[in-house]
Amino acid sequence: MSGFISGSTPGLATGFVPSFMRENVDLRTSNTFGIRATARYFCAVHSLQELRIALQFRRIRKLPLLVLGGGSNVLFCADYPGVVVRMAMTGIELLAEQGDEMIVRAAGGENWHAFVEYCLQHGYYGLENLALIPGSVGAVPIQNIGAYGVEVRDLVSAVTVLDTGTGEVETLNAEQCEFGYRDSVFKGRLQGKKIVLAVSFRLHRQPRVNLSYAALAQALACISDPQPQDVFAAVCAIRTSKLPNPAVLGNAGSFFKNPVLTRAHCDTLLQSFAGLPCYPVSGKDGGLCADLVKVPAAWLIDKAGWKGVVLGQAAVYEQQPLVLVNLGNATAAEIVALARQIMAEVERKFEIRLEPEVQWIPADGAIEDNVASLNKR
Ligand SMILES: Cc1cc2nc3c(=O)[nH]c(=O)nc-3n(C[C@H](O)[C@H](O)[C@H](O)COP(=O)(O)OP(=O)(O)OC[C@H]3O[C@@H](n4cnc5c(N)ncnc54)[C@H](O)[C@@H]3O)c2cc1C
Repeated sequence: MSGFISGSTPGLATGFVPSFMRENVDLRTSNTFGIRATARYFCAVHSLQELRIALQFRRIRKLPLLVLGGGSNVLFCADYPGVVVRMAMTGIELLAEQGDEMIVRAAGGENWHAFVEYCLQHGYYGLENLALIPGSVGAVPIQNIGAYGVEVRDLVSAVTVLDTGTGEVETLNAEQCEFGYRDSVFKGRLQGKKIVLAVSFRLHRQPRVNLSYAALAQALACISDPQPQDVFAAVCAIRTSKLPNPAVLGNAGSFFKNPVLTRAHCDTLLQSFAGLPCYPVSGKDGGLCADLVKVPAAWLIDKAGWKGVVLGQAAVYEQQPLVLVNLGNATAAEIVALARQIMAEVERKFEIRLEPEVQWIPADGAIEDNVASLNKR
């Protein structure tokens, strides 16, 4: 096994605090929403050995564990009472190459966009449509990131994980990851049980440009034989023009998933809302589900009248209503309250329950306490 996913575990004495572990750490710069919350303990782990020490530390202290990458898909709703471990393991390896196909493995702490750029520069093609998505390599299988006609499940060949119970390193193939729309086994029955150490991707030497996404095809219509570099540049340009930069305006990208409806529900809605856009849905096997359609949550939020609405320091982004933003000093309670009001209004108007894509931490009563205190103000 190669460098960045090997290492042994020393025993830890009770009461010992690893030198790389910090106490009462402000998480504001560790989440792209820019929400203020404190981690009881926080560490960045650069090796499997450090990760195992951190896991042992939290087990001895009987503390909950949160694994964090770039913090671009989380909303801290309260202080975190346990150990936050930020994955900082790096390394990229070409594992195999045969004909047009190659397997490239990247460590979980690598920055995703930097890895996409690295692959493009080395002539490893396939990831271009997923350029400029914030966060780490280790997080991409968690919600099966997707954009501009590509989902990462199309490219993942294997995921190397550490089992938090046994401490063993294991490899899951793509099928075992049970990828779905913004979903995987890591958000389901294996949540909290596996830490992603590295991800292997099946990429190609011969460019296979994917222009299935209409806006991307339109952006490249003036180029006769678009290459992966053109796709990369176009995706970066479109994203930059549409989405707020978290370094300027705190956000976590799409706050809600695009809802999937039965065709019958959609047909009923179309009688009252003729402009409702509907898209085909692909199943776990990659084939189309005839009786299901996906509708854009942004359209529903816009038609429900929430585009640009401000609540305290939280707001619905004017150019893209699927994104909730922190205007400067928003609290999680303000963002949760805004999200809940949008969900209630969309449900009332369209009988559709929006599901958050962003992971609320913790996903339990602490949010209720915060929102309740906000509503009393
Ligand atoms: C401006 C903006 C645009 C975005 N656009 C897109 C988009 O187009 N498509 C899309 O799919 N997403 C998008 N996102 C969401 C986000 O970038 C992705 O979900 C990304 O993969 C999250 O990576 P992260 O490292 O920041 O994860 P984090 O936010 O740190 O973590 C997310 C979840 O994954 C878990 N996790 C993280 N790393 C590991 C690990 N190594 N092992 C186990 N669990 C782990 C965390 O516990 C948490 O539950 C966008 C976000 C922003 C801010």
